[in-house]
Amino acid sequence: MKNNLSKTNVIMLASLMGLGMMFSCNTKTMKKVEPAINSANMDTTVNPGDDFFRYANGNWMKNNPIPAEYSIFGSFEALKEENNKQLRGIMEDALADKNAKVGSLTQKIADFYATGMDSAAIEKTGIKAIQTELDKIDGIKTTADLIKLVGYLHTSGINSLFNFGSGQDDKNSEKVIAQLYQGGLGLPDRDYYTSNDKRSQEIRKEYVNHVGNTFALAGATKDQAEKNATVVMAIETQLAQASSTRLELRDPIKNYNKTDLAGLKKVAAQFDWDAYFATVGLKATNEINIGQPKFFAEMAKMTTTVPIDNWKLYLKWHVLHGASPYLSSAFVKEQFGFYSMMLSGIKEMKPRWKRVLNTTSYSLGEAVGQIYVEKYFPATSKKRMLELVNNLKDALKSRIEKLTWMGEATKKEAMAKLATMNIKVGYPDKWIDYSTLNITKDSYYQNIMASSRFDFARDLNKIGKPVDRLDWGMTPQTVNAYYSPNMNEIVFPAAILQPPFFFPDGDDAVNYGAIGVVIGHEMTHGFDDQGRLYDKVGNLRNWWTKDDSTNFAKQTQVLVQEFNAFKMLDSLHVNGELTLGENIADIGGLTVAYVALQKASEGKDANTKIDGFTADQRFFLAYAQVWRGNTRDKELMRRLKEDVHSPKEARVNGQVYNIPAFYKAFNIKTTDKRYKPDSERPVIW
Ligand SMILES: [Zn+2]
Repeated sequence: MKNNLSKTNVIMLASLMGLGMMFSCNTKTMKKVEPAINSANMDTTVNPGDDFFRYANGNWMKNNPIPAEYSIFGSFEALKEENNKQLRGIMEDALADKNAKVGSLTQKIADFYATGMDSAAIEKTGIKAIQTELDKIDGIKTTADLIKLVGYLHTSGINSLFNFGSGQDDKNSEKVIAQLYQGGLGLPDRDYYTSNDKRSQEIRKEYVNHVGNTFALAGATKDQAEKNATVVMAIETQLAQASSTRLELRDPIKNYNKTDLAGLKKVAAQFDWDAYFATVGLKATNEINIGQPKFFAEMAKMTTTVPIDNWKLYLKWHVLHGASPYLSSAFVKEQFGFYSMMLSGIKEMKPRWKRVLNTTSYSLGEAVGQIYVEKYFPATSKKRMLELVNNLKDALKSRIEKLTWMGEATKKEAMAKLATMNIKVGYPDKWIDYSTLNITKDSYYQNIMASSRFDFARDLNKIGKPVDRLDWGMTPQTVNAYYSPNMNEIVFPAAILQPPFFFPDGDDAVNYGAIGVVIGHEMTHGFDDQGRLYDKVGNLRNWWTKDDSTNFAKQTQVLVQEFNAFKMLDSLHVNGELTLGENIADIGGLTVAYVALQKASEGKDANTKIDGFTADQRFFLAYAQVWRGNTRDKELMRRLKEDVHSPKEARVNGQVYNIPAFYKAFNIKTTDKRYKPDSERPVIW
């Protein structure tokens, strides 16, 4: 339901796909303190030179089969489950606080959560919850009405036709401008509409069924519902055909097409932009970036060629689609059946409290975040983390100095970029002010709409103004991290600063191997195939000599081929180009964190063992266990198509055999299955 366009230029450590899927686990078994490296989680019958992923994680994977509510389950998901319990405590404390003043954060959290948990009221209201939106759509008579309604839906966080929001100007990062981005599809990627492989055909068929079923639940006859679904599918297919591929979307230069209102009217002539911007309330229209001009040209044309009655069905579908998770159980189940079961292979819906918890924690992100960090984030973690980040910065600096493939002029720019890279740890210094957001005891859906409108207005208000450097693109309670190329900053929310990512009392080896690599990964994003196109102030500007660009492409091509060859599920392969940025960040993160560990360990005996492993072994084992986990086949197929991150297994087995120190740490022999001669190991950062 949220327009998160302003966050599109944020590069995450791990995909947030499927974040909505939670499970409950046994508190007692999860609570016991484990050693940072627990050999019981490993499978020592596997030769580390053949399959390090399974050597390090084999028993954990056997002992942690994917819960029915999940499509993927590993370190991230297990930690999210732990966080869920803490967040549930926050919700319940808010509910129990009888002295909470109207308008206070406690009142807002309590009422939001309570209306979501009131399943009786939600069942009773049924589809009436979205009657206002449906009636408005029924009232559309002309193209002008259609455009106004799309604007209205956008202000309410309901996706349709395209995306609109704020974002830093790629060539003047000090300033926030209006951004238009392709969108309007119900399936997660344009390729599902255009590919002819068996799985895509099957997904299309099931999608049309799902759209039809949803119309039937909303009151259409079976016959009419089927016809409606065909209409929706035809419109979306046309939009998909004009949409850029994921690979094209990774190219910042292709997606930077700044113009003014007159320029936009030329690109997408048939769409009444004056009416649209007036509806959403945008005043500063002198600078607009059209992410994908081809898409907007086609979309605009379609508003005059597709019959109005067809558009009405399309918009109704998107209102139903956006609202389904918050409507009566028939809608919730229907949507779960397609998006979770069919697309991801999930077996069971998670309990209501987890779904409502997620929505509350997302909608009132920094309100919940404030309480979360106060209760659960120790100040000492922030201090240790900042030390680690600074050591990683030093290590990357020394790597850049020593690079043989890069010339002095480019090195100077790279080091200036690294030196100015900003660091955010834990939580924002300035919280979002929720005082104008009205949350009541009346209706779950209305609370969600109020929160979406609040977010939209906040986002809109940024356009035409200088960027607010105190803004965060993730909430503190998110188990993830990111790099922002426009801000040139790395951000680590409080929730990821816990085992098995960060061990507050752990030795250097495990901390550098886990969170150290995460830090190095995010830093390297500033220098991956996309990040390297931005300079130290976050502007899209070429600071590379021609030779160095060529050398960079040569080195990264080795990585592309390596991952292209990585086989999953017998016949599917990782897409080396789509995942290149993430793979560069992983190899960079490993390399730099290892250098930093060597510096931190100066004067210490490298052969001292903890839990039976040397420091170097613990470093690589800690890295591998960050990516431990099992994935359902359907989810894996989906991610191979949609995710810019490589699968967990590839993030380990595709990387450690590139690192010279790994060979020494585990005594890897030339006869081992994954042994790679020196000449085949890429050296990037
Ligand atoms: Zn990343």
